[in-house]
Amino acid sequence: MPEPLRDVIARHGLQASKALGQNFILDRQLLARIAAVPGPLEGTKVYEVGPGPGGLTRALLDTGAEVVAVERDRRCLPALAELDADFPGKLRIISGDALKVDERAEAGDGAHIVANLPYNVGTALLLSWLEGPWPPWWSSLTLMFQREVAERIVAKPGSEHYGRLSVAAQWRSSPRIAMQVHRSAFVPPPKVASAVVHIVPAAEPAGVRAEVLEQITAAAFGQRRKMMRSSLKSVAGALDALAALGIDIERRAETVSVEEFVALARALS
Ligand code: SAM
Repeated sequence: MPEPLRDVIARHGLQASKALGQNFILDRQLLARIAAVPGPLEGTKVYEVGPGPGGLTRALLDTGAEVVAVERDRRCLPALAELDADFPGKLRIISGDALKVDERAEAGDGAHIVANLPYNVGTALLLSWLEGPWPPWWSSLTLMFQREVAERIVAKPGSEHYGRLSVAAQWRSSPRIAMQVHRSAFVPPPKVASAVVHIVPAAEPAGVRAEVLEQITAAAFGQRRKMMRSSLKSVAGALDALAALGIDIERRAETVSVEEFVALARALS
């Protein structure tokens, strides 16, 4: 049996730092359930952001995966080095900021990304993984978010959570909420509930430029209560394209489906 994480944290003096978004999960069963979300990982590569004291990292290594993990807090490195001794040759730690790492070069094509993300950088990292050439270099994303962010990622039109993040996540991937996680699962408990989101890349719709879609959703959801006749006035050609597609310009962005946004972006790409 591995040492309880509470003891690992105490032995290495890892008091949680708010500035680094540190809320640790200590329950090994819960960590094993999170590590199971991507499906069997034996023989695969996993890229983990923010291993902290290494609870999720151990659960991932237990599946038979090789793990490359990037951690900003140097205080965690000795605890992670101990893990290396239990899984020789299977773990590589990068000491640094995940926002600056050349992830693809470090983790390798086809890696599964798994992370209990620091909340302050979670959305920026997600957007960076959803952008760029498609299919992406990663095979799947399994990410812990504040529940409200998770709901925005999977939201459907008509929901109060539906917006730019929903379209960015859904136009060429299929995101789902894999697990709800109560705040009491974390030490210290955050103010809000969390959820694990699982994202698998799908085929890219033909003839759509990502930056055009982003420009449209930025304008449309920038004024989400307004009709598109008004919110999309600034996007050249958008109103004519909507008319040609038979999409009523008096509708508001929050009623427009991902497929309709994609059709509009295709017409303008
Ligand atoms: N994985 C551990 C767990 O599940 O208990 C810790 C999760 S904690 C929410 C987030 C971790 O990300 C912390 O260990 C924190 O130090 C680390 N972190 C914060 N900002 C980071 C960054 N920019 N790059 C890499 N790691 C970061």
